[in-house]
Amino acid sequence: MFAIGHFALGYLTGKTSSTLLKTKLNLPLLLTISVIPDIDLILQFAEPTLFMHRGPTHSIIAQTAIMIPFLIIYRKKTLPYYAALLSHSLLGDFFTGGFEMFWPISQGWFGTIGLDVMGITNVTIELILFAIALPLMFKTKDIQTLLKPNNHNLALIIAFGAVLGPMLQIGQSTEMSLPTLLMIPSIFYLCLFAYSLLIELNAKLNKPPKILTLNQATPNPKAEYLLTNNSLF
Ligand SMILES: [Zn+2]
Repeated sequence: MFAIGHFALGYLTGKTSSTLLKTKLNLPLLLTISVIPDIDLILQFAEPTLFMHRGPTHSIIAQTAIMIPFLIIYRKKTLPYYAALLSHSLLGDFFTGGFEMFWPISQGWFGTIGLDVMGITNVTIELILFAIALPLMFKTKDIQTLLKPNNHNLALIIAFGAVLGPMLQIGQSTEMSLPTLLMIPSIFYLCLFAYSLLIELNAKLNKPPKILTLNQATPNPKAEYLLTNNSLF
């Protein structure tokens, strides 16, 4: 599945979990986590023997192991992100070729092999998921959070790359070349993420220098006394 479908599945599972658990949702983080297993497309160039596509980063055992410290620290707040992460492999990739579900215990490949990721059935499913998730993001005002400067927006650089990568491969006969029908949702997300990243970077660059008040500048009471009494010299 491409990023368009993964974003939608990650949002739908994450939003449902956060609503049930009554926890706050961080949309940039949720969208990024929903595509993070596909980082193996980059890692496989660095370490091809370990990181083949849909290998260890897609394993539900590896994903659970990574989430355990967060579950211990942040408890139920982690569950929406855990759900989004699992949705990548168990929903998105399971029906489009499968993955190494139980790595490192088993190197076996689990999933159906019938659905071609480039085929019209998968593309239609991704478009339907996009059409369901997007209005929901607007209705819940989650997507509007991306239009304001926020530190968390910077996480979207990974989501941006996940959309851009397949677009750059259009016309090439690779397994990650973006099907034409997914162009419009891909351009939408590219523009949204680029805007979100740029307003955050702009806010950071134009942040006014912090001006210290007298009390902040002179935490030492004796120094403050000298300053206020003009008797420094
Ligand atoms: Zn994947």
